[in-house]
Amino acid sequence: MSFKAGRLFAFLLFIALPAAAEEHLPNVVILATGGTIAGTGATSTTTIGYTAAKVGVEGLIAAVPELKKVANVRGEQVLQIASENMNNDAWLKLAKRVNALLAQPDVDGIVITHGSDTTEETAYFLNLVVKSEKPVVVVAAMRPSTAISADGPINLYNGVVLAGSKEAVGKGVLVCLNDQINAARDVTKASTATADTFRTPELGFLGYMQDNKAHFYRESTKRHTAQSEFDITNLDKLPQVDITYGYANASRVPVDAFVAAGAKGIVNAGVGDGSLAEGVKAGLLDARKKGVIVVRASRTGNGIVARNGEVNDDQTDFVVSDTLTAQKARILLMLALTKTSDTKEIQRIFYAY
Ligand code: ASP
Repeated sequence: MSFKAGRLFAFLLFIALPAAAEEHLPNVVILATGGTIAGTGATSTTTIGYTAAKVGVEGLIAAVPELKKVANVRGEQVLQIASENMNNDAWLKLAKRVNALLAQPDVDGIVITHGSDTTEETAYFLNLVVKSEKPVVVVAAMRPSTAISADGPINLYNGVVLAGSKEAVGKGVLVCLNDQINAARDVTKASTATADTFRTPELGFLGYMQDNKAHFYRESTKRHTAQSEFDITNLDKLPQVDITYGYANASRVPVDAFVAAGAKGIVNAGVGDGSLAEGVKAGLLDARKKGVIVVRASRTGNGIVARNGEVNDDQTDFVVSDTLTAQKARILLMLALTKTSDTKEIQRIFYAY
């Protein structure tokens, strides 16, 4: 090769290399739904009293130019809401989009940006209905995008690295904030406003995001995603399931009201081990006689609700939530009701997921 031809070859290699390297990057789609991660405040010190769901997905991506080094990212705006307004219909829309994208061979993973208030619920719903082993990661933020030390950009960056990683394949839907990886089933928002609010008390988080890598130390033993029996392909509505709450002096009024409003299932976040005050129990027994499925959960947020412990569930024909919080038990019961209203079968489902 002549000197000139050699220089031309080196030049061509130089311009071709970056393009070739990008081909090796994972393709990650960012689905934006709103929340504080897309929020804006009046000043850089406004961390409370800001407006959620203002910045569009392109703005979120533009704020983190480092994303281009770790993935080929593109964004879609699926919703633009504060997550306290999340609902069943929005979940169906989001989950169908996730399934459609993951069925494409050129999509390696998905990141969903979300308001933190109901992140754990959306993540668990997706954990039960996504039909793929490919990573799905839900990220959020506790400080709006305009704040000093906003946590959205680093959470989005870590979420994209995680969604593009081999390590996250087959782990179920993950929630990633504050450099920590949590399983959708077990994570909960545990503090009103701090950046370390997402926790998996007792069972523990799964691993860390550190130095541009996912480090896993454990995984959930419960069924999820590709192993799930639930299929939302042809669903355009979910059955009505509501939650009642246990406290001293609680009455049956909310139970009766939900039944009158057409609830097909009620999850009671009972005190302690899912214990029921007499009046509440009477209301739930009447609900059950009308065909409503009753699930006993616990307001403690941790531990197994023991079947036939505080209540004789065989006799009352109630179901126990295992370790699911009431808000997660509601989701599982809605999906269970799309398949069966047999309480033995529903109890099996609660122990499996
Ligand atoms: N209320 C907000 C939301 O869930 C809070 C947040 O995103 O941190 O959309």
